[in-house]
Amino acid sequence: MKGEFDFIRDIKSLFPSPDGVCGIGDDCAVIPQRDGMETLVSTDMMMEGVHFLKDDIPAYALGWKSAAASFSDIAAMGGTPVGSFLALSVSASVPESWAAEFLRGYRDVSELCGFPLLGGDTTSSPDRICVCVTVLGKSASGLCRKRSDALPGDLVCVTGTLGDSAAGLEAILKGFARTDEVQRLIGRHYLPRPRISEGGILASCPGVHAMMDISDGLASDVRHIMEESGIGVSVDTGKLPLSDDLLSFCRSHGLDPLHFALSGGEDYELLFTVDPSALDGLEVPCTVIGVVTSGRTLLVDGKEASCTGFRHFE
Ligand code: ADP
Ligand code: MG
Repeated sequence: MKGEFDFIRDIKSLFPSPDGVCGIGDDCAVIPQRDGMETLVSTDMMMEGVHFLKDDIPAYALGWKSAAASFSDIAAMGGTPVGSFLALSVSASVPESWAAEFLRGYRDVSELCGFPLLGGDTTSSPDRICVCVTVLGKSASGLCRKRSDALPGDLVCVTGTLGDSAAGLEAILKGFARTDEVQRLIGRHYLPRPRISEGGILASCPGVHAMMDISDGLASDVRHIMEESGIGVSVDTGKLPLSDDLLSFCRSHGLDPLHFALSGGEDYELLFTVDPSALDGLEVPCTVIGVVTSGRTLLVDGKEASCTGFRHFE
């Protein structure tokens, strides 16, 4: 099997989008409606053994995270929530209490973010758990933000802090002592908060050009904006927003916080580009981490970057 992104490129060339529809290649498909609105749709899968280990993640957290990861794709386009569909495969050996906790987590983040559950599908599985969430959002015509709209000279910005979720995962996998800071990092990993309201506010600002969410890691995801917009990006690691928890955790364990911030996935923060003249008017707290260039490369501290994030089949 070739790499995940090459495979998606093949699918895209085999299945061109109908006129007026933005299909494969962004966080959501964008489907125009007759009433001056657009429908946003995205689907995301969580597979036991790939995205999570059943004995390591509480059922509540899995329910929360599966929904949150999909909701984040609506945030990434600046959309308004409409609802979600949940397809779930579990083996008969999974206890009812597991399913109840899973649904409680799914419900709590759905209420927090304003996505009612509207349907889904349930099947038995011979072995592993598989969760697939489809999410629907809406946006006024032409208002949602795509990966393809970055312009040379734009500033590159992110919301929140980077690397916390990956550090939380590291602490879980390595069995590090659950100090308060480790608990908070694990909380970022298990219970991510999609930036729905921030995405909506950013999409209403004309100076905000390209936008996406960070699910696979900054160094991987920024390349999607580069590819779709035909531009380059220069990132200054001295500007990356790092939480005190991440810094202290890395100091205690002799780890590099920049590794988590650049290559760690599942932060579900927003990555966007903005015209410099619009930066001061943004009503969303964010950090400028770099600039858009007209070259086609990713520069990290002036050097061509080799770091990547998570990719399937590699
Ligand atoms: P995200 O991380 O934002 O969920 P992905 O990297 O999963 O985005 O997907 C990138 C794009 O490729 C999306 O537009 C998605 O719909 C599309 N895509 C991924 N897998 C498939 C598939 N098997 N069939 C059709 N489209 C796909
Ligand atoms: Mg996304």
